[in-house]
Amino acid sequence: MSADKDVGGQYPNVESAPGQAAYRMKVLVAEDNPVFQSMLRALLTKWGYDVVAARDGLEAWRILESAGGPRLAILDWMMPGVDGVELCRRVRAAGREPYIYILLLTGRTESQDLVEGMDAGADDYLTKPFNAHELRVRLRAGRRILDLQEELMVAREALRDQATHDGLTGLLNRTTILDALRNELTRAARERRPVALLMVDLDRFKLVNDTYGHLAGDAVLREAARRMKSSVRPYDSIGRYGGEEFLIVLPGCDAPTAQAQAERFREALACEPIPIGGQSIRVTCSIGVSGSTGLSVSSSDTLVHDADLALYQAKNRGRNRVDTFIPCLEQAFACEAAVAAG
Ligand code: GH3
Ligand code: MG
Ligand code: MG
Ligand code: MG
Repeated sequence: MSADKDVGGQYPNVESAPGQAAYRMKVLVAEDNPVFQSMLRALLTKWGYDVVAARDGLEAWRILESAGGPRLAILDWMMPGVDGVELCRRVRAAGREPYIYILLLTGRTESQDLVEGMDAGADDYLTKPFNAHELRVRLRAGRRILDLQEELMVAREALRDQATHDGLTGLLNRTTILDALRNELTRAARERRPVALLMVDLDRFKLVNDTYGHLAGDAVLREAARRMKSSVRPYDSIGRYGGEEFLIVLPGCDAPTAQAQAERFREALACEPIPIGGQSIRVTCSIGVSGSTGLSVSSSDTLVHDADLALYQAKNRGRNRVDTFIPCLEQAFACEAAVAAG
């Protein structure tokens, strides 16, 4: 290995991602030769890396597998236990995220060795004896890739979040809450457990917009969503179904429990007026409850339809109340419609 001559002046002492304050990145050094091991440790520490050392392949694999393990690894090819190339294969086969950038270090210099190492999943390759300067810039290149990957992961998460959540309230959007209902119904039928659905609709919300303006209406929607969300249990799902309508899926809830839960949501809104821009806006909601016993397969369409009917009844009976779907409701509404039609 050549001396670490010129690595001090040209580069800052501690490696950092472009545009970021210096941060210490963990790097695994898997090397069975104690001389190389301590040289690498000294160099990497000097460059601002946090070194995690392994003296054989099995120890290296255990470290790489662990949660929060290093994302940058320098692997010696020849090691007891599992060699560097086999480690590369294992890491790639596991395919875990975040990506682990691997620099293979070896005394083997043949072109076919390089091909074998890279083919096994190494990202880069350095032959011993190596130049410290070269190692440093190669690690920096690896780090750029890892930083880029992290940015992509963050962007992907943000897109996923946008695709599944409602922009105004932060609740699940319509598609996602209906997916959650379908999934819950499938699971409930398998486990023969009940599921309840609440359809919540804000009362006279048009009047809120007409009186206080659309922006105040938006703020009311956000606060209503926040209050309902803080009342759900960890395994419930809540989403925005439409303008001022919300769906809440309650796994494991029979009719009386669902009704009691619905009362809690109603109360969470009615209990206190919402303060918006110096005004105090009293908002209530009506809730329709439907459900499946889990003893037969129910469709999400049926539950939504039933909750909608129960909600309609709650509105008819004066608002700020909870009503539960019972099958004869449907007949009652059909009769009502027939009478109305003459
Ligand atoms: P009801 O008690 O019968 O439900 O009366 P309502 O006024 O709440 O019902 P209606 O369906 O007539 O009005 C719903 C209103 O919700 C009308 C619409 O402008 C408003 N709305 C829907 N989405 C939004 C939104 O994102 N922001 C705001 N500010 N208002 C919205
Ligand atoms: Mg070795
Ligand atoms: Mg409505
Ligand atoms: Mg309404």
